[in-house]
Amino acid sequence: PKLIKNVGCPYCGSSCDDIEVLVSDDETQIIDVHNACIIGNNLFHHANDPTRPRLPRMRQPDGSMKEIPYPEAIDWMAKTMLAAKKPLIYGFGSTNCEGMSAVARIAEKSGAVLDNCATICHGPSFLAIFDNGYPSCTLGEAKNRADVVVFWGCNPMHAHPRHTSRYSIFPRGYFTQKGQMQRTVISVDPRQTDTAKLADIHLMLDQGHDYELFDAFRTVMRGYDIPDVVAGIKKETIQEAVGIMKKARFVMIFFGMGCTHSDGRNHNVDHAISMVRDLNTFTKASIMAMRGHYNIAGPGQVWSWIFGFPYCIDLSKGTHAHMNPGETSSVDLAMRDEVDCFVNVGADAGAHFPIQAVQHLKKHPFIAVDPNFCMASEIADLHIPVRIAGVDEPGVVYRMDNVPIQFKAVIKGLPGVPSDEELFDMVYERMCELTNTQ
Ligand code: SF4
Repeated sequence: PKLIKNVGCPYCGSSCDDIEVLVSDDETQIIDVHNACIIGNNLFHHANDPTRPRLPRMRQPDGSMKEIPYPEAIDWMAKTMLAAKKPLIYGFGSTNCEGMSAVARIAEKSGAVLDNCATICHGPSFLAIFDNGYPSCTLGEAKNRADVVVFWGCNPMHAHPRHTSRYSIFPRGYFTQKGQMQRTVISVDPRQTDTAKLADIHLMLDQGHDYELFDAFRTVMRGYDIPDVVAGIKKETIQEAVGIMKKARFVMIFFGMGCTHSDGRNHNVDHAISMVRDLNTFTKASIMAMRGHYNIAGPGQVWSWIFGFPYCIDLSKGTHAHMNPGETSSVDLAMRDEVDCFVNVGADAGAHFPIQAVQHLKKHPFIAVDPNFCMASEIADLHIPVRIAGVDEPGVVYRMDNVPIQFKAVIKGLPGVPSDEELFDMVYERMCELTNTQ
């Protein structure tokens, strides 16, 4: 067996790149995985699953799925996308940047809307960042400098299991040699999560009242009085938390869905960013979105270079890219039944979109591009399996702090199964053949 070191884990936004994988001599089987959390461990071992799909499957008139060869699937996808007036291509949290770049050509050629999972997670954060900037840093800086860590509306102990041990609570950094002993952890969450249990202070706010609490934090920070209770939290507790933050050497604020998807949404994040700016008049402070998937920061980077926008990119006008969340965002388009072909890539709209949106999408051709069986693949008209980025396909990924990392392939890909990039290139070439264009 061979031990491969410095492997990236293609699961959560922590994008751990210190995994060690023991593989068989012929590089077809994963034998053991070291350093990963239980989720990452399972993900690698799943690559050995003999039931992994190896051929595209097309829905038959009787509702069953029948395996078809790749050229047939590529031809169907190319023709279907060309025939559609406004296809929607969505997903990309779980694939590499090479795939995101290759799909852009298909999106342009078919006049599609190109969107990623941020549309249902950190989309509001993007809006706030457009308005108010992003005073952020790398996870390395957080580890080396932060002596006060705030988790606002996020629970890394479950969603990003090694975040606390690699970057935020436990690790010993350059200026934080004593690790957890040297850090004060504040959790702001309406639930008593496992992260909140680890925290020194837990502000159990009333659900949906984040905006008021940010307001109270900023008011206290500037030396003004506040009501005795704000968002269910006593004034003294807020004053204590703000006092700790002002006296810190470096405050790191991590925020998640509890902040971006509770009442206030982008306005909460706007306030959080302004709070970081306020804090920087007293000490040093930084803020970071807890991005969910290991490369969900990737489409924001790749498509911003190509189109100038990170998500909700409408290319249907054929002349320019247009972005207007609410109008060009996946769920809104689906709820208004405005798209006539849906391509789900490396995500699961079947599991994560509102049922009404899925019902509308299901009225039209529905294509799933995914290495695994998932809800989207099981309701699709065509499921095309691809290699698993980070396991049997290498590629570049952007960690939650927007640091690019080269992920490796640890085993050989399944024979005949293409990567996302190869598949999209073949679909593009077929579209060119069908339209006699380049
Ligand atoms: Fe993988 Fe996330 Fe676990 Fe790290 S914390 S090993 S990236 S699932």
